Order: sequence, then structure tokens, then C-alpha cells
Amino acid sequence: MASSPPARPTVVVLGGGYAGIQVARPLDDLADVVLVEPKDDFVHNVAALRALVDPSWLERIYLSYTGLLDRGRVIRDRAVKADAGRVVLSSGAELSPDYLVLASGSGYPFPAKPDLAGTEAAHGKVRSTHAALAAAGRVLLLGAGPVGVELAGEIKAVWPGKQVTLIDMASDVLGERYRPDLKAELRRQLADLGTELLLGSPLRAEPPTAAGELRTFTVTTQAGTEVIADIWFRCYGVVPASDYLAGGLAAARRPDGFVEVTPELLVAGQERVFALGDVSAADHNKGAGAAGRQAPVVAGNIRALITGQGELARYQPPPASIIVPIGPDGGAGQRAGSEDLVPAETVAQLKGRDMMVQRFAELLGLSTAAQS
Ligand SMILES: Cc1cc2nc3c(=O)[nH]c(=O)nc-3n(C[C@H](O)[C@H](O)[C@H](O)COP(=O)(O)OP(=O)(O)OC[C@H]3O[C@@H](n4cnc5c(N)ncnc54)[C@H](O)[C@@H]3O)c2cc1C
Repeated sequence: MASSPPARPTVVVLGGGYAGIQVARPLDDLADVVLVEPKDDFVHNVAALRALVDPSWLERIYLSYTGLLDRGRVIRDRAVKADAGRVVLSSGAELSPDYLVLASGSGYPFPAKPDLAGTEAAHGKVRSTHAALAAAGRVLLLGAGPVGVELAGEIKAVWPGKQVTLIDMASDVLGERYRPDLKAELRRQLADLGTELLLGSPLRAEPPTAAGELRTFTVTTQAGTEVIADIWFRCYGVVPASDYLAGGLAAARRPDGFVEVTPELLVAGQERVFALGDVSAADHNKGAGAAGRQAPVVAGNIRALITGQGELARYQPPPASIIVPIGPDGGAGQRAGSEDLVPAETVAQLKGRDMMVQRFAELLGLSTAAQS
């Protein structure tokens, strides 16, 4: 009598962003992979600001999950409670994973990340906000970190005549972790485009209108500078998506919401639960790039635990690096191990021109022809 094949362990991945897709796919041959994701489609949010100024990009950056897994499944749902061996979804369904991967990332105020799960509704919101932005003569961006700088560049590339003002309480762009010469270069390029930078002083009070709404208002910085604008956007405020953690997993959730992990990217105190990407505290450098470097460590470690072969690998966070586009052709960056700044032409090649769309379409198993 033929013996039945050994049961395949179940790997549940919470979140189908950059981190989740790159863990789920390589385990599809070995395990029953279940990817839980509330959104209809993978959102390539690295290009979200480009889509705001040019909504023709929308179709290219919302990518179907249909090609991601051959054997496993993607379920459109949200984890509302997760402990090591049990995940409760908002539909009421329950999963009992052998291995659990926390890849629920982070939220960021619209338009940098979508706040609607349905693709049609999310596209509609981007299109209507685009129309409001197009009609605004004066734009205020609150926050001069990478998102504020990138959005200023995107707006100026499409509408060079618009007044764009960037305000931050910090005394320089980008935040503390990056090189002074990189900040100086970004400030220089923004100034060349006629962007106004008001640094080192927060607003006395938030704008009286909703972010993204077309309505003229006046705000004043603590230092006393008045700014009149027709629309504003919030360009700060990362919130790790970890509020669903319960039991032993809640113990690994830090007060700031990031999840403590070991160098093997196991959740602190756990033997079969991993966390990576924006939700994890593995690396100060949060990014799609960091998620992509952590994913093979997590997928490889789950494979090693399932097969009993090989040692667990460790994740080594690299020194801070970043590229910041300013429109399709501008920007600058810094790389570990290089004294020179990344020049605008290289930033344009790496991100600014094609916004890395092709690479992620391929990772999702979509034919490249279908995306062009
Ligand atoms: C405008 C902008 C530009 C950027 N540009 C770059 C860049 O050029 N290079 C770079 O490296 N990084 C860039 N980043 C950062 C990058 O987008 C993030 O670091 C990246 O999204 C992190 O990937 P992730 O998979 O960890 O999380 P996310 O991309 O946030 O994905 C998490 C997924 O989990 C889902 N989820 C949330 N909660 C639950 C739940 N309870 N249950 C199930 N699923 C859940 C979400 O719907 C989401 O799809 C940029 C960010 C922004 C905002």
C-alpha cells in the first residue's frame, strides 16, 4: 500500500507588501503558504508620489497577486489577533500556522501610502487628489524628510510654476541619520527648482483644512513666517502595523510599535514566528530595499527549520544608505562604503525614471510584457 506523502507545514504570512511577497514565494514549493492581505492588489508604494502627479502610473503600480503563488493562496483579509499558533482574521476565520511571519509593515499618511483597501476606490482617491493638486497654485508640504523632499520634486517636475513650500521643525532636510553633504545637495536642487524651505520651526497650529483638500488657508510658523497655500499634504508619520499582536507576541511589541527580533529575525522569545520589513526593529533603515534583504534570511531560516538542514542565518543591518529622487531626472543619495554622493543621473537610473516597477512586477510573477 502506498504511504501518503508527509503533511506540508503551514506558513502564514501576514501582509503582502515588499517583505511578505518575498518570503511567501520562495516557500511555495515546500510549505502550504497562506498570505493574508487586506488590499486587492500589491501596491508598489515606492512610486505612489509619481502616481499622484501623473495618475497614468496607477495601473502600473497596483499589481495583481494572481501570479505570486502556484500552490499557496492569497486571502483578502486582515489579521485582528495573532499569537504564535493562532491567527484570527477580521472575517472571523482562524488560521493555525506552524510558522508565522509578521510582514504587516507600516502606515503612512496618504498620498505616500494608500489608506483604502480596494483598488478602484484607492485609484479614485488618487485621481481626485490629483485634480485638486493640479488646480492649486500654492502647495504646502509638512515634513521635509525623504517623502516631503520627493513630493516637492515630483510636483515641481510636472508644474514648475507652482509655489511649493516645505516646512519642518528639524533644522535640515532628511532627518538625522544622513550625511550633511547629501542634505546640502538636496537643498541646493530644491532651491534651483524654486522650492521654499522653512526649516527649524514648527507650525503654531495645523492648517484648518483637511490634507489634500483644495481650499486656501494661512498658517504661521513658531518663528513668525506666514504661509498662504491652497492645499497641503502631511509628509511624516510612520506607524508600524502591529496592534493585532496578542499573547506572547504582544510582549515583543515595543512601546513605539516596532517588533523586537533576534539577529535571525525571529520575534523575541519565539521559535517559529518571524518579523521583517517596516514592522520589525531589525534595522533603522526602513525601506523596500531592507525588506528585500531581510526576506531571504526569513525564507531561508523557515526552510532550514522545516527541512532540518543548515544553520539559521543572521541579518546584518548595513550602514545607512538612501536615494532620494527629485523628479524623474534629479535627486541624490548616499551609499555605504562610498565617499561620493550618488549623482542625479544614477538616482534617475535606479529609481526616478522607471520607479523600479519592472522589478516588482517580476517578483509578483507577472509577465513583463503585460506591464509595459
Ligand atoms: C513615498 C514613499 C517612497 C518610498 N521610496 C522608497 C525607495 O525608493 N526605496 C526603498 O527602499 N523604500 C522606499 N520607501 C519605503 C518602503 O515603501 C517601505 O519601507 C516598504 O513599504 C516596507 O515594506 P513592508 O512589506 O515591510 O511593509 P508595507 O509595504 O507597509 O506592506 C505591509 C502590508 O501589510 C498589510 N497589512 C497591514 N496590516 C495587516 C494586518 N493586520 N493583516 C494583514 N495584512 C496587513 C498592508 O496592507 C500592506 O500591504 C518609500 C516609502 C514611501 C512612503
